[in-house]
Amino acid sequence: MKNFVQYAPTEIVFGEDAENEAGRLAKKWGGSKVLVIYGGGSVKRSGLLNKVEEELEKEGIDYEELGGVQPNPRLGLAREGVKKAVSFQADLILAVGGGSVIDTAKAVAIGAADPGTDIWSFWMGEKAVTKALPVGVILTISAAGSETSDSAVLTNEETGKKAGINTDFNRPKFAVMNPKLTYTLPKYQLTCGIVDIMMHTLERYFTPVDGNALTDEIAEGLLRTMITYGAKAYEDQTDYDAMSEIMWCGSVSHNNLTGLGRPKDFLCHKLGHEISGMFDVAHGATLSAVWGSWARYVYRIDVSRFARYGRRVWGIEEEEDEAAAVKAIEKTEDFFRSLHMPVCIGELEIGVQPDEILRKLADSATKGNTILLGAFKKINAQDAYEIYKAANH
Ligand code: NAP
Ligand code: FE
Repeated sequence: MKNFVQYAPTEIVFGEDAENEAGRLAKKWGGSKVLVIYGGGSVKRSGLLNKVEEELEKEGIDYEELGGVQPNPRLGLAREGVKKAVSFQADLILAVGGGSVIDTAKAVAIGAADPGTDIWSFWMGEKAVTKALPVGVILTISAAGSETSDSAVLTNEETGKKAGINTDFNRPKFAVMNPKLTYTLPKYQLTCGIVDIMMHTLERYFTPVDGNALTDEIAEGLLRTMITYGAKAYEDQTDYDAMSEIMWCGSVSHNNLTGLGRPKDFLCHKLGHEISGMFDVAHGATLSAVWGSWARYVYRIDVSRFARYGRRVWGIEEEEDEAAAVKAIEKTEDFFRSLHMPVCIGELEIGVQPDEILRKLADSATKGNTILLGAFKKINAQDAYEIYKAANH
């Protein structure tokens, strides 16, 4: 078995009416002045924001609000949040929403703990994160896994650069997860979430390192669960069991349990972030748009790994590894298609792109070809361009 560090400290309260615990949990984790962060209004329309604030009031917790977080959350609003948290003297940041709201809350928590530093310098790797205010989450969408992850992704709207940072200071203290809160999701957000959850495990599964049998078994089990219950949820978004399984998979897929002892690849995430940064496209859609092209570009490096994935996750019976590997890639794309998710750039709302845009995306992903990306295969600017090009139809 390969060495690993497992750190998944988030307290999860899962199930129907779990949001009733919001006040108790905020108090437990040190909140007496809470900055509540939310998005474009879905939590107002559903009554969830009101409910959560009532729970804070019951515990005698003072709070202020910051709304308006957009998908692909913007640096500007996070900076505003830092100012608000500092002037209010917030001692806990509470995210009520999805990945975009949670990542904004994480950025505010980091910035408010070190108000002398502009937060983007943490995102650009110019300064290491050494502290953050506690973050709590009331989750409304199963997707990013940010409710347990060590990651936070922001878009700098002035440059169009989308970037993430990973630090244990990003791990939320608690996450409230009621699957019923996800019933109101637009279908497209549901399916973007299903893709993102699967990708968080696939990006850990396809790496050059062998070993840690349990890690692989958990990863394969999670992917099978997503395939079964993702299809059910797509048919009926009020299927409590289906929405529950997806929700829990979302957290487990990104708290690193499916990657222990393995390096992370996350190349498709990097390629997808470039597209989202330039064109403001939903995260999950960018992933399904490039995954098949990436897989065909790299699978020969370890055909047996793709064949194993096909056999264990998709039940493929081909005896030859090559045939099983190719079929596994096709099956994955077919599943994305069954959810009406794009499997190429031409199926994104931006359509097929001119060659110079592909070069620009590849160049930005590899920081002017100064860094190699990925783990399964180390990718330079030319490789990234070839993958974008293969997906550009
Ligand atoms: P999101 O961007 O937070 O939300 C997407 C949309 O869904 C919003 O328009 C939101 O509306 C709506 N929505 C959310 N819950 C809803 C509900 N219950 N009912 C109706 N509408 C609802 O979605 P996400 O996929 O969770 O987050 C995506 C972001 O997370 C991307 O920036 C991605 O790069 C990032 N990400 C982060 C990590 C990480 O570990 N930090 C991992 C992967 C991806 P409202 O705004 O009106 O609420
Ligand atoms: Fe993701």
